[in-house]
Amino acid sequence: MNCTACTAPLTDTAQLCDGCTRGLDTRLGELPGQYLLLATHLRPGAGRSDGPVALVREAPMPVREDVLDMRAAGGMVTTLESWREAMQEARGWGRPARTGSVERRVLAAARGLRMNIEWTAAEFVGAGDMAREIRTLSGQVRALLDPAPPTLGVGTCAADLGQGDICDAPLRVPAGTATVRCRRCGTDYPPSTWLALATGAWAPAGAAA
Ligand SMILES: [Zn+2]
Ligand SMILES: [Zn+2]
Repeated sequence: MNCTACTAPLTDTAQLCDGCTRGLDTRLGELPGQYLLLATHLRPGAGRSDGPVALVREAPMPVREDVLDMRAAGGMVTTLESWREAMQEARGWGRPARTGSVERRVLAAARGLRMNIEWTAAEFVGAGDMAREIRTLSGQVRALLDPAPPTLGVGTCAADLGQGDICDAPLRVPAGTATVRCRRCGTDYPPSTWLALATGAWAPAGAAA
């Protein structure tokens, strides 16, 4: 039997390995706070300095559609609620309520998923898809929140955070330097590795943490 998210071999009968379970739990814990933070990134360049006063005075300003989409119905809340509903259905439970503000719904769905993470990791047949989808969502949110100026992107961090949970944070070459350091886990990538990263041809053996 293998982990349905990362395909690592498992010693027991389960859906997820320990690394993928911990990664899923951590991301579900981070998402509600990140949802709130996204509100401060609705304006281009916002979240860096000035603050709301300057925004009000200089209206109208453009809105970041990508941030808006992530915060709206169909964005983060829909991904979380859909998985919570699928999980509850698989357990023979009723549909969870979808009430209150989007913030509250995000929190309720993430909390509901975390409370059932042990069962999910052990038995939920959708666990692998859930873990991968939540990892993608988490990466997208982190990219939206990243206030770094647009610099050269060189793919995503290949560091193994433990038992097959790949970091996956977006990597950039900051202007004027030749060192790429993952902003999430701190792994350094010298220039000789950039091509492999950018093309997805990264060899795990070279991923020194
Ligand atoms: Zn795994
Ligand atoms: Zn990393």
